[in-house]
This record gives sequence, structure tokens and C-alpha cells, in this order.
Amino acid sequence: MYTFEFVRAGSIDDAANIHELNPEARYIAGGQTLIPTLKQRLAKPEMLIDIRNVDDLKGIHRGGTAVGIGAMATHREIAASDALRTACPAICHLAGEIADPAVRSRGTIGGSLANNDPAADWPAAILALGATVVTNKRKILADDYFKGLFTTALEPGELITGIGFQLPEKAGYAKFAQRASRFALVGVFVAKFANTVRVAVTGASESGVFRAHALEAALNADFSVAALAGQKASPSGLISDLHAPAEYRAALIPVMAERAVTAALS
Ligand SMILES: Cc1cc2nc3c(=O)[nH]c(=O)nc-3n(C[C@H](O)[C@H](O)[C@H](O)COP(=O)(O)OP(=O)(O)OC[C@H]3O[C@@H](n4cnc5c(N)ncnc54)[C@H](O)[C@@H]3O)c2cc1C
Repeated sequence: MYTFEFVRAGSIDDAANIHELNPEARYIAGGQTLIPTLKQRLAKPEMLIDIRNVDDLKGIHRGGTAVGIGAMATHREIAASDALRTACPAICHLAGEIADPAVRSRGTIGGSLANNDPAADWPAAILALGATVVTNKRKILADDYFKGLFTTALEPGELITGIGFQLPEKAGYAKFAQRASRFALVGVFVAKFANTVRVAVTGASESGVFRAHALEAALNADFSVAALAGQKASPSGLISDLHAPAEYRAALIPVMAERAVTAALS
């Protein structure tokens, strides 16, 4: 074991100030990604800044058609949220499909978005919903936030404080999960708004989450499962690994899109 300092932040400003004085420090939220990373020595920060006790990072709020989710909301809290279940059940469904009960109890939406694993579930929802990632410094549109594999628009030390989005008229999420971890081999989130449909795909691409513009065009013309008939995805640029070749992931994309639309319409 190697030594590191462990500091508990009391507020958003406190966390940011500690980080400013210790630029090599890492925030720790649920620890479900960071702790395994430390155990494998893939990172050896000299300090961890624990943000679990920061009240301003917690909670799920709905005001009319606007929803706000605090960065420290756990997957379990989101899956069980009555406010979200009536407003956008697809979000609760997605949260309940992440990993297992132990990971869902500690892992947070903020940690997942900061990490931006290419197979994580939340990036698909956040991108399809056209959500805003709120930090201690600014608001970042989802279309500008995801920059590639484990890469985001966050600057060093920038702290995600929450997520905001407008409720869609309909939404659905379907994923084909890797059996052991339940990370997505392919996950598709579909969100239908009054004027547009947005579709985001996770798990499939070497560049991380992406919008499926051909599927969006088909669903903008006709929001139905039938509108997706004959849709095909190219395997070019998709992930090939021990779980599935790129061709298999490509074949899964329209299938998961159909299931997501079915869920949205049900
Ligand atoms: C066995 C297992 C199975 C899993 N299966 C899935 C799955 O099916 N689907 C899925 O989507 N995920 C899955 N995960 C990942 C899980 O969802 C994690 O909870 C998530 O990726 C990280 O959240 P966390 O709160 O634990 O973050 P942490 O591990 O605490 O932090 C992760 C990274 O984000 C940074 N960070 C944390 N919070 C913030 C913040 N507010 N602002 C800025 N930076 C921050 C940290 O510094 C660190 O770099 C799995 C994890 C495990 C261990």
C-alpha cells in the first residue's frame, strides 16, 4: 500500500479550494471506479478529496418540465426516485440497469460522467436528453461535453455539481449488457421532444458515446419502431474486444434502438 492524504470537503468551494492548492489531488465520489484504479496502481494521487458530505451536490429536483440531479445522486437513488419515475421513467430504468446493487448504492451520476467510460450508461442519457452538465465554474451542453474515450470538457480541478435537462415527451433506453459487469456492449437512449428526436449510443464506439444521426432522421420523420426498419450501422470505428467484434456491436445498434423506441411508446 502507498500513502496518500484523505481530505473531506464540506462545501463545493471548499473542495475546489483544496484542489487548487493540491493540483494533483483527485475528487472521490462513490469510489466505484477510482478505488479499483488505485488498487491497480493505474493512478497514485497524493491526495483524495472526498465530496460525499457536500450537501449542495445531493438531491433530485423537478420544477415543471425542468429536472436537476445533483452530482452525488447515486444510481440507486435515481432508480428509486418517485419524482423521476413519473416524469421520465427511462432515467430510472437506466439507473436500475447499472452494475449490481452494491455498485448502484455508492456510484454516482457525477462520477460516471467525469469518468466517461465508453461503455457507461449515463453518457447515452445525458447526450440524448441534450442535458447540461453544471460545474463549479460553468454550464456545459452535452453536445460539447463528451470529447472521446475517458475524455471530457472538464478542466483540471473542475467539479461537476449537477445535471439539468428539460423533460422529453417520451424516452426509452435499451442496452445489451456485458454479462459480468453489466456495462453496455451497446446501449441506445432515445428522447422525443416536441420539435426533435435525439438518439445517443454508448458502449459501441472507440470514441465513446455518439449521436446516431441516421436513426434521428428516421425517427424525426415518424416516431415508431417501423420507421427503423432496414436501418444498418457501419462497424467502422466500433469497438472489437473479447466480448464482441465490431460487426456484432454494429448489428446491435438498430436492435437496441427499436427496443428503446418500443419502451418509449409503452
Ligand atoms: C463491478 C462494476 C460494474 C459496473 N457496471 C457499470 C455499468 O453497468 N454501467 C455503468 O454506467 N457503470 C458501471 N460501473 C461504473 C459505476 O457506475 C461507477 O459508479 C461510476 O463510473 C463512477 O462513479 P463514482 O461515483 O463511483 O466515481 P469515483 O470512482 O469516485 O470517481 C470516478 C472519477 O470521477 C471523478 N469525479 C467523481 N465525482 C466527480 C465530480 N462531481 N466532479 C468531477 N470529477 C468527479 C473522480 O476524481 C474520478 O476520477 C461499474 C463499476 C463497477 C465497479
